[in-house]
Amino acid sequence: MLYDLVIIGAGLAGFSSALVAVERGKKTVILARGLGNLYSSSGYIDLLGYYPATERKPLLSLLEGLNRLIDEKPAHPYSLVGTDMIKDAFSSFLSISEVMGLPYGGSTYKNVIMPTAVGSLVPTTLFPKTAERDVFEAEKIVVAGIRELIDFFPAYTAGNLEIALERKIDFYWVNIGINVHRELNSYDIALALEEKEIRDRLLKQLKPISKGSLLLIPAVLGVKRWKEVISHMEEELECKVLEIPTFPPSVMGYRLAETLLNYLKSKGVEIITGYSVDYFKGDKDVEEVAITMSNGRLKKFKGKSYILATGGILGEGLQVYPQEIKETIFSLPVISPEPPSREDFFNLEGQPFSSTGVFVNNSLQPLDRTGKVIFNNLFVSGATLGGYDPFLEKSGNGVALSTGYKAALMALKG
Ligand SMILES: Cc1cc2nc3c(=O)[nH]c(=O)nc-3n(C[C@H](O)[C@H](O)[C@H](O)COP(=O)(O)OP(=O)(O)OC[C@H]3O[C@@H](n4cnc5c(N)ncnc54)[C@H](O)[C@@H]3O)c2cc1C
Repeated sequence: MLYDLVIIGAGLAGFSSALVAVERGKKTVILARGLGNLYSSSGYIDLLGYYPATERKPLLSLLEGLNRLIDEKPAHPYSLVGTDMIKDAFSSFLSISEVMGLPYGGSTYKNVIMPTAVGSLVPTTLFPKTAERDVFEAEKIVVAGIRELIDFFPAYTAGNLEIALERKIDFYWVNIGINVHRELNSYDIALALEEKEIRDRLLKQLKPISKGSLLLIPAVLGVKRWKEVISHMEEELECKVLEIPTFPPSVMGYRLAETLLNYLKSKGVEIITGYSVDYFKGDKDVEEVAITMSNGRLKKFKGKSYILATGGILGEGLQVYPQEIKETIFSLPVISPEPPSREDFFNLEGQPFSSTGVFVNNSLQPLDRTGKVIFNNLFVSGATLGGYDPFLEKSGNGVALSTGYKAALMALKG
């Protein structure tokens, strides 16, 4: 079978390309070793939180910051995609999110400020519509922690928020009354709260403290039935609820990743996970790639075009060796800093490995060290790209979404 598009990687970058392909009716397969970092992430899509990256004041006027970045950093993935296409990618995602049944809000014009589990305030760009709540406007804010949940401490969250917002914030402990002799993570609790009986126990404790307030609660309000759980809570408690993303596993990231995965499958995209792509054939064009099946045989996939969306160092599309960093499938040259010294490693001005990656031209085709295109029909997206620091800039999912979008447009051109 000849695919129009073979995508390697099932993270947001790969999914973003697949959405473009689906819209154009193209035969597409996604090959992935595992599921991407979206499952661990907050589910927020950050375009650019801070610029310059070392500026710790959140960027509010997004286009101003983005245009300045594009002027100053020509090799940054956003400079290669361009403002107009970034806007297209984001607005296309907003429309598709409605169709998929997980509507997102926000815009590319301004960031909004959201509270975190540690009580800091951070900028973000797109967020589930259920999180469309303003901590600055709320008359009363209450933080609730769930005793059985690991890694969420309401006193700590409320204390730091009090400092950040310069106002009084109450906190409470509640419980869901499950005794399994182990700590529960956010996914366990989100599943439990889909049961009305367990939810009612929580509501009974929250009712006296939350009326008329903005209730900040860790993101545990349902895995699949979140809509029902959140609206039931808001109605019963007569308050607004804002889920705060938790440390992984992150239910908000999970909801987005699963929604995308199921939507793409329903549109005919083949998604094969559990196997690494570890073979390719081709010279100026990639002719085929293959995964090694459990019986040791190669299963080959031929496409007109290919997208490499393997997630950089964290996604294991790039591997770090003592003296070099390697791109694992096509042996593409990786532009990386010298191995960082001990002092560099926790450098607050940027961790050198963060901006390591494959360098590409404006069409996102990989380049060799002389600047020549290596494979005409291969396009690179997401965290495998170099030239940006997703953590310092707060741009991880934004780069994945917009480069995935452009990579697919380039790959399917002609
Ligand atoms: C804990 C955490 C929280 C985050 N929170 C946020 C946030 O709040 N906002 C934000 O904007 N960003 C956030 N990010 C960053 C963001 O999630 C990443 O930058 C983004 O997901 C990168 O997407 P990607 O598709 O490029 O890579 P990934 O999501 O890493 O996906 C890579 C894919 O490639 C596959 N793969 C790798 N090698 C091979 C191979 N040889 N063969 C086959 N498949 C392969 C992997 O299995 C995976 O499916 C967070 C990241 C983490 C880890």
